[in-house]
Amino acid sequence: MKKLVSIVVPVYNEQDNVALLNQTIQRIFEPLPYRFNIFFVDDGSSDGTLENLKKLSLLYDNVRFLSFSRNFGHQAALKAGLDMADGDCVISMDGDMQHPPKLIPLLLEKWEEGLEVVYTIRKEDRAQPFMKRKTSNLFYAIMSRLSDIEIEKGTADFRLLDRKVVDVLSSMQEYDLFFRGLVKWAGFRQLGIEYVPEQRNAGVSKYTYRKMLRFALQGFTSFSTRPLYAATYLGFIFAMLSSLYIPYAVFSLVFDHPISGWASIIVTIAFFGGLQLMILGIIGVYLGKLFTQSKQRPVYLVRESNLTKGNSRYKGG
Ligand code: UDP
Ligand code: MG
Repeated sequence: MKKLVSIVVPVYNEQDNVALLNQTIQRIFEPLPYRFNIFFVDDGSSDGTLENLKKLSLLYDNVRFLSFSRNFGHQAALKAGLDMADGDCVISMDGDMQHPPKLIPLLLEKWEEGLEVVYTIRKEDRAQPFMKRKTSNLFYAIMSRLSDIEIEKGTADFRLLDRKVVDVLSSMQEYDLFFRGLVKWAGFRQLGIEYVPEQRNAGVSKYTYRKMLRFALQGFTSFSTRPLYAATYLGFIFAMLSSLYIPYAVFSLVFDHPISGWASIIVTIAFFGGLQLMILGIIGVYLGKLFTQSKQRPVYLVRESNLTKGNSRYKGG
């Protein structure tokens, strides 16, 4: 029997993209010696995405969809896709055509060569907004400094995972998901291949700068406690430095040397006030993670799907 390949596509308000993506994937698989299915995960879209997915699923018997009860976010949608996909390997990709489907045969080729994770690295793309490129580069630079795993600059959520790795990832109970890190963390035989991203086909990007900042903070704090150590060292250094100041203050008092300094006091108070708030914030982020994790709420809720009980991974909903 031919091997089964599952494609997982998180979609949030991508009504004008799903048909094109589906058609492109169907065409790419025509000459390939695989069975395949496509899992669209509708992340609580408010446009016609779900209707379009339903239509597609009637036309193509290898199109599956599941629809969340609300918007749970891109990473949660990826998780749902990995939970439900039943392929011998699973390829995840964006629904806006930015991840070129023509790369799929190459991913599969590498998989056949024995690799268990084939991830992709976005080549610097001049068409992307300047700010988006720079902030993204900054993120990966800080990430590799802060955490113990090395994530290459431009790593995308476009990757092939062997069934072994999918099982590992979907058994994880982490609430704050950051797949780029988790996949690296998991190990296995990995290979990164470069690709040039395409333009988004229709619609707009769902990642605002605010969301990206949040996502970045999630990433840093999910894979490292180094920010906490940095805060400790920083406190230590400032305590040491300030002790140098004590002899000077004593000297001034004893010899009645006038100490002026409204400006220096204000600057010091403001500086250390800011520093303390920042470090409190860092501690708070970790505490917040503990809090959300301890509630053990599900990462996503499915409202409806066309997954039948025949699907080995069917979990209701
Ligand atoms: N997406 C999602 N839920 C969200 C935001 C995004 O499922 O809350 C999907 C989106 O539909 C797309 C993919 O995640 O298929 C990547 O998002 P987008 O293209 O907006 O990000 P960008 O490429 O601009 O970084
Ligand atoms: Mg995109």
